[in-house]
Amino acid sequence: MSLTVHTHTAGETGLLVNSYLLESPDGVLAVDTSLLVSDTRAFKARLDALGKPLLGAFITHAHPDHFNGAVELAGGDDVEVYATPSVAQTIREIADDKLAQWSPMFGDEWPATTYYPNSAIADGEAVTLGGVTVRAHELGPGESHADAHFTVTTSDGGGPLGFIGDVAFDGTHAYTADGHTGAWLANLERLTAQLQGAALLYPGHGQPGQVELLAAQRTYLLAYREAVRDLADGGSTLNDDALAEVVLIERPVGRRRPARAGRSGRHRLRTAADRRRRIRSRG
Ligand SMILES: [Zn+2]
Repeated sequence: MSLTVHTHTAGETGLLVNSYLLESPDGVLAVDTSLLVSDTRAFKARLDALGKPLLGAFITHAHPDHFNGAVELAGGDDVEVYATPSVAQTIREIADDKLAQWSPMFGDEWPATTYYPNSAIADGEAVTLGGVTVRAHELGPGESHADAHFTVTTSDGGGPLGFIGDVAFDGTHAYTADGHTGAWLANLERLTAQLQGAALLYPGHGQPGQVELLAAQRTYLLAYREAVRDLADGGSTLNDDALAEVVLIERPVGRRRPARAGRSGRHRLRTAADRRRRIRSRG
C-alpha cells in the first residue's frame, strides 16, 4: 500500500516547524501542526487539496509550535487528535499560560482557543487508520516537559518511519529552556535503540534523516551542557553575566544551514565557551 509523506514547513516567524500529512489511498493522517494561524491554514489547504478525509491527527509533544494548529486543522469538525497521556495532560497545563504570554505579541496569529488532544494513545499502543498503523512511544520530559514519538508502518512491511518531534533538530539550534537536557540525553539513547532499522526519521524542524540525527543531537546537548557548566563556574545557577552569554550562544541561527546540527551547534557553543576561557586567562 502506498504511503506518501507531505511536509509543510512553517515560515521563520512560525519557527520553521514541520507538520506532516501521511496520505494513504483511504485518507490522510496529520502529525503535528503549526504555531501560527496562517501557517496552519496553509497546511490545511494542502490537506484539502488531497481531496481525502482527515482520519486523525497525532501530536508528538507539548510545545505550541506543534499543538497550536489543531484547532485550525479541525476547522470546527470533530477530529480525533491523539497524544500520549503525559503529552495530553501537559498541553492542558501549559496552553492557557502560553496563550497569555504570547498572544499579545502574535495577535490574531496565535489561536484564541486550544483544541486539546481527545484520543489517548498509551505508550506502546498502536492505532490503524486507513491501513496506516501508528504506534506511540512515551518519553517523558526531554526537549519539552512531555515528549513522545510515533513509528508508522503500513501493511506492505518495510522499516517504520519515525516521527520524532523535537527529540532531534536538524540544522538548527535546539530549544533547551524547559531544562531537561539530562533526561533528553537518556531519551536519545532509548530512541536510538527503538529506531534502529527505521527507514527514515522525520524531525519537528529540519530535514528528514537517519539515526545519525540522534547522534548529532547528543553531541549538541553534551556541548551545551559543558558550556553551561563552564559558565556556572562551579555554581548551581548562572549569574546575569553568564546568562547573557547563554542567550548569545543560544541565539538561533535562523536559516537552515548546510552543515549538520551537531557540527554547527558544537562549533558555536564552543566558540562562546572558549571566549570566556580567554577572558578568564586574560584576567
Ligand atoms: Zn518545535
